[in-house]
Amino acid sequence: MTSEPMLWSGWGDPAQARELPGQVRRLLHDLLGVRAPVVPAAELESVRVPPAALEPRHLDALAALVGDGHVLTTHEARVRHARGRSTPDLLRLRAGDGDGAPDAVVLPGGHDEVASVLRLCAAERIAVVPFGGGTSVVGGLTAGRDGFAGVISLDLGRMNRLIEVDTESMTALFEPGVPAPEAERLLGAHGLTLGHFPQSFEYATLGGFAAARSSGQASAGYGRFDDMVAGLTVATPEGDLDLGRAPKSAAGPDLRQLVLGSEGAFGVITSLRLRVRRAPAEKAYEGWRLPGFAAGTAALRALAQDGPLPTVLRLSDETETMIGLARPDRIGAEESGEPGCLVIAGYEGASVAARREAAAAVLSAHGGVPLGEEPGRSWAHGRFSAPYLRDSLLAAGATVETLETAGFWANLPRLYDAVRLALLGALGSPLVMCHISHVYETGASLYFTVVTAQEGDPVAQWERAKEAVNAAIVEAGGTISHHHGVGRDHKAAYADEIGPLGVAILRAVKDRVDPAGVLNPGALV
Ligand SMILES: Cc1cc2nc3c(=O)[nH]c(=O)nc-3n(C[C@H](O)[C@H](O)[C@H](O)COP(=O)(O)OP(=O)(O)OC[C@H]3O[C@@H](n4cnc5c(N)ncnc54)[C@H](O)[C@@H]3O)c2cc1C
Repeated sequence: MTSEPMLWSGWGDPAQARELPGQVRRLLHDLLGVRAPVVPAAELESVRVPPAALEPRHLDALAALVGDGHVLTTHEARVRHARGRSTPDLLRLRAGDGDGAPDAVVLPGGHDEVASVLRLCAAERIAVVPFGGGTSVVGGLTAGRDGFAGVISLDLGRMNRLIEVDTESMTALFEPGVPAPEAERLLGAHGLTLGHFPQSFEYATLGGFAAARSSGQASAGYGRFDDMVAGLTVATPEGDLDLGRAPKSAAGPDLRQLVLGSEGAFGVITSLRLRVRRAPAEKAYEGWRLPGFAAGTAALRALAQDGPLPTVLRLSDETETMIGLARPDRIGAEESGEPGCLVIAGYEGASVAARREAAAAVLSAHGGVPLGEEPGRSWAHGRFSAPYLRDSLLAAGATVETLETAGFWANLPRLYDAVRLALLGALGSPLVMCHISHVYETGASLYFTVVTAQEGDPVAQWERAKEAVNAAIVEAGGTISHHHGVGRDHKAAYADEIGPLGVAILRAVKDRVDPAGVLNPGALV
């Protein structure tokens, strides 16, 4: 686990960069026709950023609110806050395109400073992009500049405290800029856990999880992040919201739900009261081989509907199983290429042995063959390492990107086929892999990983594919996002999903809390 600053043009701790195994290089070359890019990646110093538009009086006024030293205008600070971490973001940064860079990075120290910065920005028409860990993969961090006096990135990194733990109610009150590993460390001292482990765990923050409705790898056991949010405070240019005074309420619509997933467009989350659990005394992860994706899906549905539900439950399709993506540390190792579909099942907390035995009966009844604990341990060990592999693939001339959706069980096969067909149609002969990793009684999410040879302008190449997939998801009745959010990349498809009245309702909310339109302009609505 790392706390190093993120690589400016890639993922994670630069010290953990990974070489591609020879077998993977051969596969890329022979199967996908990948050729090394002609132009090497840019250096940070040479990245092109827009001319800074904010006037000295704006910067002075901001510094007066948050303190000298907490308004950064260096080239490096601007580049580091220019974009999120989607593959197009990284391709652009590697090409020296820092187009999305803010004029300044502002680091508030608390709720009142956030509120006063928002009031100032509304009065001066300065766009404000809240910035947590910077791991958005939907274009959530690049504000439109048109019509604004300038753009600031509001980095919540100084708001990184655990404020209070209530072991009677099993809640913990946090500031929004706490990175996920730090949250686990702070809770661990009390024998507690959140149980939220997305693949971006090493860098993403609690505020970002709430703002983008994140879902972690152990969501079957601990729930999605939005399930964990008991209360929120939010600063807007028009005043504050303090939401959530009971676990559930019949007092009208739940306004917490309006803030969750609002991606900085309706306000800045300045604290979160989160449901916590006792840290599990016992953990066991194991692998199973199912005869095919259909049989595996049926087994997962049975576990989700009739139980027992493991804490981690993940099914790779045939291609993902063959490539060995569920165990990124072992891609290219000798035993990659197993047939059938790999299931990883993990059990945490109480009654591990009994739950495991009961789940084994369900998996066996669907044709499953136990593979023992080694695949589970290997998955757990490599669970955060796949994004490092992406950097090596981009450098080698392959585009690799992930995308996700969710649907009801009855519609899942149609959705699966629609996304695959759209990708094949748009990209020729890419490698398309899929897994199910978030299950519910009524349905599940599908998470795709795509690898293709870079051709011409790789950003334009991917954007064409993404457009085709978005259309296919809408047409096939899936949601445009199960956990990555909307940002700019899914805005049009989200509008299709909720319809004109839905969009008008969101606009009305935005107009009320942010009449100047300075909050993350261009995102969500
Ligand atoms: C390699 C990789 C793997 C990933 N894996 C997963 C995964 O397994 N599951 C998953 O759910 N997601 C995943 N993501 C997506 C991403 O990590 C999540 O969307 C996460 O919730 C973003 O958190 P963050 O702190 O980085 O937020 P940021 O990226 O900084 O911000 C996300 C959005 O929320 C807004 N925002 C941030 N903080 C606040 C705040 N305090 N108040 C209001 N608005 C705010 C931002 O303006 C932006 O629009 C992955 C991303 C990457 C790059």
